[in-house]
Amino acid sequence: MKKDVLGVQIDDLPLSEAVDAGFQLLDKPGFHYVVTPNPEFILEARKNEPFRQVLNHADLSLPDGIGVVYAAKILGKTLQGRTPGVDFAQGLMTRMAGAGKRLYLLGAKPGVAEKAAGELKSRYPGLVICGTHDGYFQEDAPVVDDIRASRADVVFVCLGAPKQEFWMAHNGPNTGAALAVGLGGCLDVFAGNVKRAPEAWQKAGLEWLYRLIREPSRLGRMAKLPIVLLDAAKARVTGR
Ligand code: UDP
Repeated sequence: MKKDVLGVQIDDLPLSEAVDAGFQLLDKPGFHYVVTPNPEFILEARKNEPFRQVLNHADLSLPDGIGVVYAAKILGKTLQGRTPGVDFAQGLMTRMAGAGKRLYLLGAKPGVAEKAAGELKSRYPGLVICGTHDGYFQEDAPVVDDIRASRADVVFVCLGAPKQEFWMAHNGPNTGAALAVGLGGCLDVFAGNVKRAPEAWQKAGLEWLYRLIREPSRLGRMAKLPIVLLDAAKARVTGR
């Protein structure tokens, strides 16, 4: 069931059900895409109507950040928990590996997607990484052609938001893939270039704090978390 969080529709599913739903999209005709909103997405969507539309047309919209869960709670719409994009991607790759499905990695700085491909191939035997491309290209068409030629079932699109969501919505149907997933900085994590927070921090809902300590330059971006909570409180009080 979708829940509205400040104008953005969020699927309220535990991680395992989200992965099941994502994997099932591979058998449905046509192209599908998954978005992973965090507080930055929600603030951007409040001033960028085309972005909000693209988010709300996604087949699955998973709450990536604890801030989305808190904002929903303030609005009186309890979510079952956050479903980080990286966890969703890992669950999906496990299922894809079992079925011999083909994955294309798009995004990040040159060399990162190739490094991630190497790591993922050994972590998920059976998974076919059928192609990679960095995220700093000028023209879409050659990239779309490369994905089509790779016969990918799934594309991880890691260009940062809102670029990756627009890219999926506009170009996804021409790639021939069944599914694209917008995953921000995930390739940096899969390549081993960026470390995730230890599990205890993740369970405590403090992954954002761990990331801030490691990358203090993200402070400006993370300041969006309290703004979303304030917006949620205002919306709750005013009923708008
Ligand atoms: N990126 C890209 N092309 C661009 C801009 C960004 O491939 O034009 C990549 C960037 O190298 C990084 C990812 O997109 O790997 C975005 O990371 P970000 O920190 O924004 O994502 P988050 O971790 O917040 O989801």
